[in-house]
Amino acid sequence: MKVRAQFALVFNLDKCIGCHTCSVTCKNVWTNRKGVEYAWFNNVESKPGIGYPKNWENQEIWKGGWELVGGKLQLRSGSKLSRLANIFSNPDMPEIDDYYEPFTFDYARLQNAPLSEAAPTARPISQITGEKMDKIEWGPNWEDDLAGEYDKRAKDVNMQGLQKQIYSQFENTFHMYLPRMCNHCLNPACVAACPSGSIYKREEDGIVLVDQDKCRGWRQCISSCPYKKVYYNWESGKAEKCIGCYPRVESGMPTVCSESCVGRIRYNGIMLYDADRIEELASKENVQDLYEAHRSIFLDPNDPEVIQAARRDGVPEDWIEAARRSPIWKMAMEWKIAFPMHPEFRTLPMVWYVPPLSPVQSAIDQGQLPTEPDGVIPRADALRLPLQYLANLLTAGKEQPIFDAIAKMMAMRSYQRSIHVDGQPDTRALTKVGLSAQQAQD
Ligand code: SF4
Ligand code: SF4
Repeated sequence: MKVRAQFALVFNLDKCIGCHTCSVTCKNVWTNRKGVEYAWFNNVESKPGIGYPKNWENQEIWKGGWELVGGKLQLRSGSKLSRLANIFSNPDMPEIDDYYEPFTFDYARLQNAPLSEAAPTARPISQITGEKMDKIEWGPNWEDDLAGEYDKRAKDVNMQGLQKQIYSQFENTFHMYLPRMCNHCLNPACVAACPSGSIYKREEDGIVLVDQDKCRGWRQCISSCPYKKVYYNWESGKAEKCIGCYPRVESGMPTVCSESCVGRIRYNGIMLYDADRIEELASKENVQDLYEAHRSIFLDPNDPEVIQAARRDGVPEDWIEAARRSPIWKMAMEWKIAFPMHPEFRTLPMVWYVPPLSPVQSAIDQGQLPTEPDGVIPRADALRLPLQYLANLLTAGKEQPIFDAIAKMMAMRSYQRSIHVDGQPDTRALTKVGLSAQQAQD
């Protein structure tokens, strides 16, 4: 056993309101520079939706992450030799249209624009080419900004009719927000792919960084990262990525996105894990076992043997203490309500997610998810986001763990409501998911 400490985060999707404050504060602090105008180390995308960059989840297009070949882990982007041969074309790399083209808003339009049937009518000016962008077909939050047939219908429907149509569409849709940043993976594909050895994972806290002096701009990290969270700075010719706000973390502060988060959805913490088991766990044949395997790499920070081994392996005392107090351990391991995103990419990501609670209110009022007779599948009228969709995002398709997490969160909500709204603690919902009132209070 080799004990290492890892900086980790949990995002509670149930609380994200899609305000983008996290993205904007991150941009102001870290990417407010020439060459990375299009880059959002932290972005918040609407889901179900195609995301940022476009279709990043589709590994058939972008060939990121790892795959098993003859039982051995291999980068999906191919061998080092074939990647070097592809170095100039790098076919698996998103282009500027796949992100979005940054533009300068023309504020004069606020006063000067003629009255029109449907807003917005402004055609922004590209920050890159300086030309008017005549055709805007997509943006990172397209699905909730201008989804459906808004543009097409705007031409031939009067405002009232158009509004009606949009509202009727929105009434029938449900989406969630998915904030994304680099996962500071335990098995990072970006590090493995770098021909210059410029990307590295820090021993002390697992934060993944790009050494700007060593980077030669090969961009293999961009194609290899399955989450598409490395960006090319076209001004400096180097790769850049989220640095886990390490200067803040080192002085005991949360990341800037966490500190500014309006919904308070972001939890920071330290996890202890066994670094000797990374390859074995990432090499699981069955992708559905991967998320459970990921869990099994973490070590109980309250176990005296683990603490002793951590000291032996040089984990500082204050990091061990931080691991003992970590909310990440509680949410991911004790309560089992947090999951790694796309564990099937095999990079062992360290940003975990609590699924959004999307049952309809009548289901919440009953204190449990009404199910089909098999007891596992929620009734179609009880969930607004299909269980299968969340399972594909967080557990490589396994539905039961997501179901259990949602049922637990519903029970907690029912219990808290009974205390704060009805003034009478009602533990019936808690009992159904095997929790006591004391556990709920903790
Ligand atoms: Fe590397 Fe971050 Fe991508 Fe993981 S998410 S592969 S650490 S860039
Ligand atoms: Fe969501 Fe928080 Fe970001 Fe707002 S600041 S979009 S609530 S993660």
